[in-house]
Amino acid sequence: MTARPFHEATVLRRQQLTRGMVRLTFNGEGLSAFRSTGIADEYVRLFFPDPETGELVLPEIDGDGRWIFPAERHRVHYSTYTVRRFDQARCELDIDLVVHAGGRASDWACGARAGDRIVINNPRGLYKPPPDLRWQVLIGDATGLPAIARILETCPADIESRIFIEIDDEADRQELVTGPCAPVVWLCGEAGRPAQSKLLDVLPTLSTEMDGGYLWVAAEKSVVRALRSQAESLGCFADRQKLVSYWSRAKD
Ligand SMILES: Cc1cc2nc3c(=O)[nH]c(=O)nc-3n(C[C@H](O)[C@H](O)[C@H](O)COP(=O)(O)OP(=O)(O)OC[C@H]3O[C@@H](n4cnc5c(N)ncnc54)[C@H](O)[C@@H]3O)c2cc1C
Repeated sequence: MTARPFHEATVLRRQQLTRGMVRLTFNGEGLSAFRSTGIADEYVRLFFPDPETGELVLPEIDGDGRWIFPAERHRVHYSTYTVRRFDQARCELDIDLVVHAGGRASDWACGARAGDRIVINNPRGLYKPPPDLRWQVLIGDATGLPAIARILETCPADIESRIFIEIDDEADRQELVTGPCAPVVWLCGEAGRPAQSKLLDVLPTLSTEMDGGYLWVAAEKSVVRALRSQAESLGCFADRQKLVSYWSRAKD
């Protein structure tokens, strides 16, 4: 049987997690065929209907897994979010969304009510540390926080983690489940601008003893680009890294 590519999810509840983040919990019969990959940073796409026509144009998927959109119809808006939690027995899925100006998904999340429906696709994960992992550095802004939280919850206790999270405001801090081997450093800065982002201070101050480490980054595109070239010029984490652009700041 081929896996179903899309799933309808129904909002069960909305919770204001912190000042700048909303958690939506979904359930419903539509999630009965949804399967987690088990990869801690797995993500899905939320598909939104055309605001004028209400029509939801889902992509067709070709034999190579590529998405094809019918040319004559409006392209669907979709936004990418981490699966913060999936409980298969209860058929419940949590997604934590950063609240920001002018975002379709963000606006929808802020106004979502129990019973509202959305379509999501199958998840995919990117966090794949090498089998000999001894320690890791996790760097992210608020959008990376759900994935970092889940990585920490699922990571073996003997792996050392150094965690650096940039938030706009102290009120965006969250309680994270971490062991003694996982100190979290909260940084208040401007996550979307390399010149102001405190994430760019992290790599140069880490120990030069980088053997056996793994670097995972989720942040704004230009910050990720700057971090990538920093890692390259410091000569660290060469083939032991995953840096992902989670969002792009609009040009000033
Ligand atoms: C693999 C992956 C996993 C992700 N997981 C999460 C997650 O769990 N939680 C989460 O909140 N985000 C997550 N993101 C980021 C999220 O996909 C983007 O922030 C996305 O642009 C939000 O969609 P939107 O429809 O609200 O805004 P869009 O319509 O995409 O963007 C509208 C405007 O908002 C601006 N914008 C977008 N995101 C932000 C932001 N965070 N802060 C300020 N301005 C912004 C854009 O520059 C644009 O001008 C993830 C991204 C990826 C690639």
